[in-house]
Parts: sequence; C-alpha cells; structure tokens
Amino acid sequence: MIVDYHMHLRGPHGGPPERYSADRAEEYVAQANRAGVDEIGFSDHVYYFRQTLELWEIRWMSERSVDDLDDYVAAVVEAKERGLPVKLGIEVDYFPGIERELADLLEPYPWDYVLGSVHFVDGFPVDQEPGLVHRIPVGEAWRRYFTWLRNAARSGLFDCLAHPDLIKIFGMRAPEEETHYLHVETADAIEAAGVCVEVSAAGLHKPVGELYPDRSFLELCRERDIPITLASDAHQPAHVGRDVARAAELARNAGYGTVTVFDRRERRQEPLG
Ligand SMILES: [Zn+2]
Ligand SMILES: [Zn+2]
Repeated sequence: MIVDYHMHLRGPHGGPPERYSADRAEEYVAQANRAGVDEIGFSDHVYYFRQTLELWEIRWMSERSVDDLDDYVAAVVEAKERGLPVKLGIEVDYFPGIERELADLLEPYPWDYVLGSVHFVDGFPVDQEPGLVHRIPVGEAWRRYFTWLRNAARSGLFDCLAHPDLIKIFGMRAPEEETHYLHVETADAIEAAGVCVEVSAAGLHKPVGELYPDRSFLELCRERDIPITLASDAHQPAHVGRDVARAAELARNAGYGTVTVFDRRERRQEPLG
C-alpha cells in the first residue's frame, strides 16, 4: 500500500466556498492513480480558516485566516461519499499555550488524522526566508526547533508529525554530533507520545534537496517502532504522489515494512509498497 497523506486541497481561485470542492478533490485522486498512490489524505493548513483567527499571534498567519473550515470538511466528506479513496486530515501548527483552544476547535469534525507541524519557533518562521536559521546561530535554531517538535509530539493534539526535520530546509545544519543527540532525544519523545512521523518528499524540491527526515533519524524511529506515513505535501493536483516512491524507498532502507492507514483517528499498519 502506498499512501500520500499530506496535500493541500485549497485552490488558488474563486471565492471562499469554491476554493474547496469535491470536484477539485477528484483531480487529486486522478493524479494519485497515475502516480501509483492507493489512498490520499488532505491536510489543509489550519490557519487558513477564520475559526482560528483569534489564536495566532503571528500576523502572517492571522491575515490568512479567511476561509470557512466547514467548506473544507464538507468538500472532503462529499469526495468520500462519491467513493473516492480520500481521507480527511488537517495540518495544524503547534504553538504552546493554545492546545486547549485547538483541541476544542478540532473536536466537532470527523478527522481521519491530524498532522502536527512546527512552522514557527519563538516568532520566527522555520521555512521562510529570513527564517530561524538566519536569525540565530544555526545550532541554537536546531535545538529550539526540536524542542518545539518534542512538545508538539507530547501535546496530545496530533496523530502524526509532518516534515519532522523541516529545520534543515535551507541546508543549514547543526554540527553532526549535536544533530545526533537531537535526533535521539526527539525519537524518544515521539515514541513515548505514541505518534507517527511522516516521510516527506517535499524537501527534495526545497534548497536542501533531500527527503524529510534524515535517514539516521528515521532509523532511530524504526528502532523504536514509531509508525510512518508517506507524503508529497502537494499544493496542486499535479504534485500529488510526487516522489512518494522515493519516500517509500527511504523508509524501506531504514527498515520499515509497513505504512500507517488512518480511519477516524484510529491507525493500522499495511504492508509498504
Ligand atoms: Zn507544513
Ligand atoms: Zn503542508
């Protein structure tokens, strides 16, 4: 089984309701079929929904909080009702202090899974320039990023951590020994929290030019029996399943033989491939 559990349905055109539609979801499924992906899951950014407007201290996020979460959920639910192999997920930014508010916001909806992402640390963006690694010494940036990721794992909000070493996006790295300890500490925290990690092809198309996470980190996850998902992080139909075969290959090389399938926040393992 090959899944692609990270993609964004939000269309660039039209008014708020038209940005999310089952017709658009069908385009993603058509591309998934061509790419050899058996099941896809949508994971639109939580900050695009006006229901989250009050939660964000970062203006870049709150100025995007314009869509209706119900439009998004309704589009994916309708796609499911059409019999399409799609799952309802959401990509949620982790910030300390708003866990209760986020949990309450998510509670009424029939999610198959919730992805947790760290896109901002201490007010600095992780994946935008100039970002965290440009603003503070790179070793400190890595320490802070992984501290936030561990806290995201422990928050109880998430089923899976998206692009779990996103901090490497610009190819700026902490020293090797320090990276190793950060990976070990983080894998331990993820294991204890009982959440999955995503193997994402998105980094191949970023300055770093690599999959997320590093193979060494994924091997530490494998040793701890931390389950995985696969991801393209597509923001348009044409990118669904892109390089997910390479993500699956990395997972196999790290020792994985199964991939996680989610249904209503319950997970099971299926043979990988
Ligand atoms: Zn993300
Ligand atoms: Zn994403």
